[in-house]
Amino acid sequence: MSLISNNLQVVRAELAAAAKKVGRDPQQICLLAVSKTFTAEAVVEAANAGQRCFGENYLQEALDKMLAVRALLPEVALEWHFIGPIQSNKTRQIAENFSWVHSLEREKIAQRLSEQRPAELPPLNICLQVNISREASKSGAMPEETATLAKRIANFKGLRLRGLMAVPAVSADLHEQRNAFRQLRELQQQIQQEIEDFGISLDTLSMGMSGDMAAAIAEGSTIVRIGSAIFGTRNYAT
Ligand SMILES: *Cc1c(COP(=O)(O)O)cnc(C)c1O
Repeated sequence: MSLISNNLQVVRAELAAAAKKVGRDPQQICLLAVSKTFTAEAVVEAANAGQRCFGENYLQEALDKMLAVRALLPEVALEWHFIGPIQSNKTRQIAENFSWVHSLEREKIAQRLSEQRPAELPPLNICLQVNISREASKSGAMPEETATLAKRIANFKGLRLRGLMAVPAVSADLHEQRNAFRQLRELQQQIQQEIEDFGISLDTLSMGMSGDMAAAIAEGSTIVRIGSAIFGTRNYAT
């Protein structure tokens, strides 16, 4: 068995165990394999082990990889999620090539993505990225700005607002990890009440990475974004 398929088995087992521990159905939690910096061949290995949803942070790298994967696995349909920072001159290719965007934090970018989403595709699924730990270095809307942003973009025709995403401050402490994820869940509940009139039902919490997956699942995560636990240590130099 390849290393990647072995890692995938381990991560799936950990996901299921974390869900069962808090009485949740593991089927309700989507495993997003974050393949940034890894090759098309690595994605193919994961796809051959049954993985279908992949997350990418860098647009050009992602587009090259999608083409290569399609050539290697023409019969397998994969779902691509954009999870990195978005520059306004990159919105068209994101709107044309991805099913989900997890990293939306500005109305201007939302408007461009909506206008540029091809009419023949379903609306682009959107999570608003929240700077839940209020770190100067981190992307994301501030928690108190997020409800306004949600209302502003709620009726954009090319988008479907699904929920919130966050990358909390790194901590090895389970209690601290859960605190940050709980704040995101509570913010989502608050926003849900505020946008009830828009007929939108938020059903997605994109939270949890290799180092804090179990804590995120305990607090209600519905998409965990797992990179290094599946593909290994990232080497940004290559
Ligand atoms: C890289 C990345 C991940 C995956 O991180 P790991 O710690 O390798 O699991 C998840 N989410 C985002 C936004 C990322 O940039």
